[in-house]
Amino acid sequence: MEGDSESSKPFASGKKIIVAGAGIAGLSFVVALRKQWLSQLPTLTPPTIAIYERDPKNFGVEREGYSISIRSDGNAAGLQALSKLNLLETALAQSITGVQEDPGSFGLWDKDWSGILRIKLKTPGNLPVPGMRIARNVLRKILIQSVSAGEEIHWGTTCAGAVKLESGRIEVQLSNGKTDECDLLIAADGSKSKIRSTFRPEDKLNFAGAVAIGGVSRFKDKVPPPVDRDWGFYLSGTGYGLFASPVDEHSAVWSLSYLAKEPREFARQPLSLEQADLILKEARERGKDMAEPFQTLVNATDISTLMILNTLDKQPFPHLNGSLEDMPVVFIGDANHAVSPFAGAGANLALMDGWELAEQLCKCGSLPEALALYDASNLPRATSVVQFSHWAIAFAHFTGWKLTLCIWAARIINRLLFR
Ligand SMILES: Cc1cc2nc3c(=O)[nH]c(=O)nc-3n(C[C@H](O)[C@H](O)[C@H](O)COP(=O)(O)OP(=O)(O)OC[C@H]3O[C@@H](n4cnc5c(N)ncnc54)[C@H](O)[C@@H]3O)c2cc1C
Repeated sequence: MEGDSESSKPFASGKKIIVAGAGIAGLSFVVALRKQWLSQLPTLTPPTIAIYERDPKNFGVEREGYSISIRSDGNAAGLQALSKLNLLETALAQSITGVQEDPGSFGLWDKDWSGILRIKLKTPGNLPVPGMRIARNVLRKILIQSVSAGEEIHWGTTCAGAVKLESGRIEVQLSNGKTDECDLLIAADGSKSKIRSTFRPEDKLNFAGAVAIGGVSRFKDKVPPPVDRDWGFYLSGTGYGLFASPVDEHSAVWSLSYLAKEPREFARQPLSLEQADLILKEARERGKDMAEPFQTLVNATDISTLMILNTLDKQPFPHLNGSLEDMPVVFIGDANHAVSPFAGAGANLALMDGWELAEQLCKCGSLPEALALYDASNLPRATSVVQFSHWAIAFAHFTGWKLTLCIWAARIINRLLFR
C-alpha cells in the first residue's frame, strides 16, 4: 500500500476479524497479519482478532505426532512462507532435518528397500535447505507461541455456525452458547469445515480412492534404516502402498495404504487394546510380503497414534461468485481445498494461504479487491496440488508393467539429475 495514512487505509484497518480454527492456516494468517501490519502500516489502527479453536490447549501429542514435509518447490512453498514469518530458523532447529548430519531427502525404495530415487532439490538462493521434515505438533506449537498476547486463542470453543446480519457483519455461533460478531470471518477450520457446510452445504469432500492404516513407531534406540534418514514411498508391487518417514531420532511414521471403491468406517482414538490389536494385525497381514523393517515399524507402533485414514479431498473454490458473493468470509487451508496426505503439500498450502491473505488485507482498500488477488494465486496452485495427489495415489499402488516402467524411469531420473 502506497503511504500509511488514514485516507489510503486498507479495508482491514480497525475491523474485527474472527478466525475459526487455530491450525496451520489460521495461525499462519494471524502471525502474518500482525507481522506485515507492524512493518508496513505501523501508524494505522490494526484489526482486532479473535481466534476460536475446537481443541483444548494441551491437545494430545498423539493426534499430531506424525511428521510432515515442508517444501520449497513449485506449488508447495511452505519453507518460503515460514521464512517470511521469521520462523524458519526455529522450525529447522526443531525438525528432523535440522538435527541430522545428512538432512535426508524424499525418495523411492524398491521391494528390498534399496533406493531407486533420492531427490536432492536445489536449495533456493535465500534459504538454508530445500525442505524439511518436522513433527506437525512441533510446527503448530511454534506458530502458537508466535501469536501475540493481544490475539487470544479461545481454546475448546467450536464455531458451530455463522450467519450474515442485516448490518453486513457476520455473527458466529459458539459451542459455549455465546455468539461473537465480526466484519470478516476467516474459515480455517480444516477439511470438515463447519463454516463451509454453513455457507456452501453442497461443497462436500470426495473420497480419493485409498484407505491408509498408519501410526508412529517408537524406538528406545535408533529408528531402523533407511527410515532413520530418508522419507518416501516403498514400492512393494503387491498393490499395497507404504509411506515411511523419520519423526525424530527415536520415532518414525508409517502408513500402509490400499485402493478402495468406498471410504471405510473406522474407530476413533482412543482405541481399546482389542481394536488396536485388530488394526495392527490387519496391517501385518496386508503387508506380509513387504521386507523388513516394515514389520518392525508396525510392531513398535504407539497405539495412541494408530489411525485409519480415508483419503478425502476437494477442489478449491473462488470467493467472488456463487454462494459467497458479498459475504465477508474467506476460506483458507483445508477448509477451502482439502488435500490428502498423498499430496505432501496441504500444510505448505495452509502456510502460504495464511501469508498471502494477510498480505492482501494489508494492501487492499476493499475486501473484493483483496479476495480477487488472493484467489488468483490460491486457486491455480491448490487445483494442481489436488490433481497431483490423485496421480500420487495411483502411483503408490502400481503393480506389474506400470510399476516396472516407473521404476526404470525413476532410476534414469536419479542417474541424470541427482547423482
Ligand atoms: C497423516 C498426514 C500426513 C500429512 N503429511 C503432510 C505433508 O507431508 N506435507 C504437507 O504439507 N501436508 C501434509 N498433511 C496435510 C496437512 O496436515 C493439512 O493439509 C494441514 O494441516 C491443513 O491445515 P489447516 O490449518 O487448513 O487445517 P488443520 O490443520 O486441520 O486445522 C484446522 C483447525 O481447526 C480446528 N477446528 C475444526 N473445526 C473447528 C470449528 N468448527 N471451530 C473452531 N475450530 C475448529 C481444528 O481443531 C484444527 O486445529 C498431512 C496430513 C495427514 C493427516
